[in-house]
Amino acid sequence: MTSTALDTAAATVEVRDVHKWYGAHRVLNGVDLTVRPGEVTVILGPSGSGKSTLLRVVNHLEKPEIGHVSLNGELIGVRRQGDRLKELSERAILAQRSRIGFVFQNFNLFPHLTVLDNVAAAPVATGKLAKPEALELARELLGRVGLADKAAAYPRQLSGGQQQRVAIARALALRPGVILFDEPTSALDPELVGEVLSVIKDLATSGTTLVIVTHEIGFAREIADRVVFIDDGRIVEQGPPSEVLDKPRHERTRDFLSKVL
Ligand code: ADP
Ligand code: MG
Repeated sequence: MTSTALDTAAATVEVRDVHKWYGAHRVLNGVDLTVRPGEVTVILGPSGSGKSTLLRVVNHLEKPEIGHVSLNGELIGVRRQGDRLKELSERAILAQRSRIGFVFQNFNLFPHLTVLDNVAAAPVATGKLAKPEALELARELLGRVGLADKAAAYPRQLSGGQQQRVAIARALALRPGVILFDEPTSALDPELVGEVLSVIKDLATSGTTLVIVTHEIGFAREIADRVVFIDDGRIVEQGPPSEVLDKPRHERTRDFLSKVL
């Protein structure tokens, strides 16, 4: 593996007073979060608490009504309370999105492309690499997630765990400064969870900035620099796992942990 092909500067993500609503339904109610370069942040919270929406705001898939998000100090999204509306150009949005990896619960691989082409597609589509270089990078990344022998297979021929490892390789192909994971193991049969967590663990130790929504508390304890507990669109508490998981200060956090542990 050539380090030049894979290394990226880890990004800083800042979320400032983000509010998001759909009609009368308030989904995020003033979220502030700073993710420092190389940090692993695990987000916990009940279903419907706004975890996916928060990741979607960071990846430009949703715009906040109030507040803003920045990547390495560059504004993402549009609104700052009191400011006039700042719209980013479509081009700026695509440029920022190409520096953010996103791994979904349901893998979302392209079914009609081979595993190798799934991984190589984005760097070619965004003009970052020519096809031969993209294929070379894709082979390296498949090796990194332990799937070098599946390059020619189609997604349907793989297990869920293998598909999710391909999705992680695909996210890495854009050499993102940060990777967002939205419940990456919750669609998997229990015996396939470990292989995906072990790939994520490998990324965590390699210094990539990671933000992971998961209910895997043991995994959170092992890899998180910071655990953030969200309820009702608000951060209830955050801190190192030894505090939030072992000595939660808030009743709602204790209640949630008692249900998932
Ligand atoms: P979580 O990921 O924590 O389960 P979500 O961020 O997916 O929560 O959703 C938070 C709330 O926002 C839920 O009540 C959900 O129904 C609502 N919601 C999410 N996306 C939309 C949307 N596009 N339109 C309307 N409501 C939505
Ligand atoms: Mg969700």
